[in-house]
Amino acid sequence: MSVNLQNIKGLGPASEKLLAKLNIHSVEDLLNHYPTRYIDYSNVTTVADAHLGPVALKGHFTSVTGRWTRNRKHITEARFSDGSGTLKVQWFSQPYRKESLPLHTTVLLTGELDVHGNIISMLHPDYTLGSDFKKNEPLLVPVYPLSAGLKNKQICKWMQQAIDDYATSLPPLITKLAGELGLQPPQDLLRKLHLPRSQEDITLARFWLSFEELFVLMSAGALGKLEHQSFQAPAIPADISIIKSALADLNFDLTDTQKRSLWEVAQDMSNAHPMNRLLNGDVGSGKTIVAIIAALLAVKSGLQVAVMAPTSLLAMQLYTEFTKLLSARNVSVDILTGASSKSQRKSIAVRLADNSLQVLVGTHALFEDTVGFNNLGLVIIDEQHRFGVKQRSKLQKKGSGLPHLLSMSATPIPRTLALTIYGDLDISVIDQLPPGRKPVITEVCSQKDRSQVYECIEQKITKGQQVYVVCPLIDESDTLGVKSVIAEKKRLDSTVFAHRKVGLLHGKLTPTEKEAVMSQFIAGKLDILVSTTVIEVGVNVPNATTMIIEGAERFGLAQAHQLRGRVRRSTEQGHCYLFGTQSSSNNTRLQILEKSDNGFELAEKDLEMRGPGALYGAMQTGALDLRIANLQDRKLLAQVRSAAKNFITANHERLHEYPYLLDKIQHARTITKLN
Ligand code: ADP
Ligand code: MG
Repeated sequence: MSVNLQNIKGLGPASEKLLAKLNIHSVEDLLNHYPTRYIDYSNVTTVADAHLGPVALKGHFTSVTGRWTRNRKHITEARFSDGSGTLKVQWFSQPYRKESLPLHTTVLLTGELDVHGNIISMLHPDYTLGSDFKKNEPLLVPVYPLSAGLKNKQICKWMQQAIDDYATSLPPLITKLAGELGLQPPQDLLRKLHLPRSQEDITLARFWLSFEELFVLMSAGALGKLEHQSFQAPAIPADISIIKSALADLNFDLTDTQKRSLWEVAQDMSNAHPMNRLLNGDVGSGKTIVAIIAALLAVKSGLQVAVMAPTSLLAMQLYTEFTKLLSARNVSVDILTGASSKSQRKSIAVRLADNSLQVLVGTHALFEDTVGFNNLGLVIIDEQHRFGVKQRSKLQKKGSGLPHLLSMSATPIPRTLALTIYGDLDISVIDQLPPGRKPVITEVCSQKDRSQVYECIEQKITKGQQVYVVCPLIDESDTLGVKSVIAEKKRLDSTVFAHRKVGLLHGKLTPTEKEAVMSQFIAGKLDILVSTTVIEVGVNVPNATTMIIEGAERFGLAQAHQLRGRVRRSTEQGHCYLFGTQSSSNNTRLQILEKSDNGFELAEKDLEMRGPGALYGAMQTGALDLRIANLQDRKLLAQVRSAAKNFITANHERLHEYPYLLDKIQHARTITKLN
């Protein structure tokens, strides 16, 4: 029932193609294209008092000229005066302006005041004849996201018509649901958003549309949780004596947050419904031991455990750690990766089938159809955020119900974001490092510090330690940052570190090539590893104690923090040097990194400064950008959460009666879930 864009006057096939690039395919989509901000022209000022930025001025044009430049561009130049001063105004490539510009008559001039070639002037302003002011011109002008070729003014014009003709017949979701939810949003919500008459209009519209956006996400979460609870899982007793005796084998005590997390996991697994818990903690916070003890509990109650890592390198690391603790307790552990031989696979299959193999660590190879668990009770996933019911049931060959699921992530996720997009998950947070672990010393550097930094590095290498050099993507054409790392390696190879062994890691390498480089680095055969952000989250090379991050201002806080976590893995003091491209000493973000080594603190800051899209990007799970809602608004979040939970609890069996909502929920799920 979507309305064709061609119904909007002045919107032809060419514009339609441009709109398609913004995912606008219908009038409804157009109405759902929200402004990112507004320019406020409601305060008329004078030329003498005006500041740079958007201004509205009342006065008249005193002269106008037109000329062609040497490279055949037309410039219309006018002078505008309001008695307090005069201003230069220009239009490019609009020769008709010269003839049509009204001289010596009062106009309201609106536009952005800026410095162009040392002169304060206005490019491409709008003006309204004095006699028309109040009637026609909106003074709060929305600014829309654009694609190349589209102009904000065009969208405003189309929007005006879309609102006039269709806003009532295509109301926003929140208006349709208002009755069900006992809410009373204003009827002309979209008009208030797109054609506001006051700041209050904007505030009101944003509130309700934020409510709607969060409601969809939180309903998706609530629905997911409900679905989970409808499955059965083997109840695993939270046997304290098993936990205590395993912990006694360790040469350290668990931190308080490790203990709490372990307890939450054990409680969940003791239920006859599948656990769906995320263990969230910084790199090095000690998530693995929690997972190992969870595995032990499952094995001791006669169940099998699958442990999955995104790469064989990480799988190998996990295998080593699980074996170390579990083999002493008579648990058999094995590993399966893409590189496993046929006979290994066969042996694993046989032992899985007769229950003699209890813990199998591996990569995605665990999903292969030949891997048949006999009695899978727990799935542990490292460094992968989302893992759907479908994938889980793929692991579930025999046994009853779904296995419990424990996922682990080293990307600290702020609570507000987690509640919004991971509503189907329970979350345990480990937000403290094991005692004695030294925070990484981070320094924001300028180019003149470079030789000194290289000297420090030279000393560390001489002591036998290793170094990461991380480079950002240079430009859009270099989507994987390949150009940038190759150039940097060449530079280091041919200058300061010509006498050292420098390795190269980036996303264009094949998995085998990547692994070969990493193995060399782990074995200490490389002194320096120049890399894009592909160095894996879980990679544990304690001997690497120093990191340089180039173009550091291009990384989000969360991402930069995650990167430097690689040099927080030993008892040696870790160092991280942040080089910006420009005057990075003034860069607030880098300074925050210098001050704090707490991932959750930084994630909160990142969310505040760059929004969820940026954070989510760092999690490498897909693109989710909240279009309008602000996750800082905790009161709203709580309000929506309870509305969504109540609505889903009451209506989950008849959601088909709300197709427009169901549609949005499904979409939300495809973004936040692998299902
Ligand atoms: P991550 O959370 O990044 O997976 P790991 O589980 O690999 O971290 O733990 C990092 C290191 O810290 C491991 O060598 C582990 O044995 C050690 N560790 C874990 N918990 C503690 C603790 N409470 N006290 C001291 N060392 C610990
Ligand atoms: Mg880990």
